[in-house]
Amino acid sequence: MSEVLVLVDHVDGDVRKTTAEMLTAARRLGEPSAVFVGQGYESAKEDLARYGAEKVYLAQDAVYTDHLVAPVAELLADLVGRVSPVAVLVASSNDGKEVAARLAIKTGSGIVTDAVDVQPVDGGVGTTQSVFAGSYTVTTTVTRGTPVVTVKPNSVSAEESPATPTEEEVSVEVSESAKAARITNRAEKEKSGRPSLTEAAIVVSGGRGTGGDFGPVESFADSLGAAVGASRAAVDAGWYPHSHQVGQTGVSVSPQLYVAAGISGAIQHRAGMQTSKTIVAVNKDEEAPIFELVDFGVVGDLFTVLPQAADKVQQN
Ligand code: FAD
Repeated sequence: MSEVLVLVDHVDGDVRKTTAEMLTAARRLGEPSAVFVGQGYESAKEDLARYGAEKVYLAQDAVYTDHLVAPVAELLADLVGRVSPVAVLVASSNDGKEVAARLAIKTGSGIVTDAVDVQPVDGGVGTTQSVFAGSYTVTTTVTRGTPVVTVKPNSVSAEESPATPTEEEVSVEVSESAKAARITNRAEKEKSGRPSLTEAAIVVSGGRGTGGDFGPVESFADSLGAAVGASRAAVDAGWYPHSHQVGQTGVSVSPQLYVAAGISGAIQHRAGMQTSKTIVAVNKDEEAPIFELVDFGVVGDLFTVLPQAADKVQQN
């Protein structure tokens, strides 16, 4: 069976859920081989084995982490040339998409971004995507080169499939141009204690209806162990950081549960959340467009409804 390369998404060996999801997806196409770049492999090892990595390619040289993503793309391109995988799967993060795009150019391959599923099809790899602000769900087959696919977090359910991976150290002669942008300082990550927006199983988002007070949204999110999102109206007003914006020009999320509080449901907001498994809205206006796509809707004031809901969750 042929290999499917999965670029491990991790922070210092702390493997993100996306990696387990990609390894699960990779098993539908062939034998998953994890490509671990950077430090912390010892912490990551168990997770990679648990989700079925048959092989781990290890690239721990600082050149891959001291620069922006170009060296990683060169490493992957070299691996693609050596092992001719069925496909390369990369997380749909900002870095992931850049690595994928560079890799596709280097290998002359077709690329699909933000796939929510992958499947083997005659003569290639099929993917499913939600496109044009979510107006269409399309299936695509990459017909050229080695398919490079970025996989949207939370779109595939991670399933364990224990394996005993073999390990191989890999390296590539990184070009001078790939080393052109060196990272001199990494901003400290936000320390909210909440899960990251793209990874969270539950997201609670607030919009203009919060009037700038995200207290009830955050408290409800915390009662559920959820991440906090925001509409662009809330972000543009300076009520919440831009990194939390959900939508066409923000982050795209697909959690198990998405709660939209005080958000009208504009098409650009929907584009970033409508693939969520269950959608709940709290809105004062029963005519709000968000109610067209919800599984459960509460017509009411978020300042009353969210605290009550948080109390109920805490009682259980
Ligand atoms: P509004 O549309 O003003 O809705 C507020 C809602 O809150 C209303 O439905 C109201 O009934 C309800 N409400 C008010 N008070 C309460 C209360 N106390 N309790 C309960 N409900 C209450 N938007 C995004 O979100 N993400 C994007 O990525 C994005 N990208 C865009 C890109 C482009 C090119 C453009 C043109 C627009 C984009 N937008 C995006 C903006 C989008 O069109 C909407 O303007 C925005 O989503 C509206 O945000 P909102 O729902 O919070 O505000």
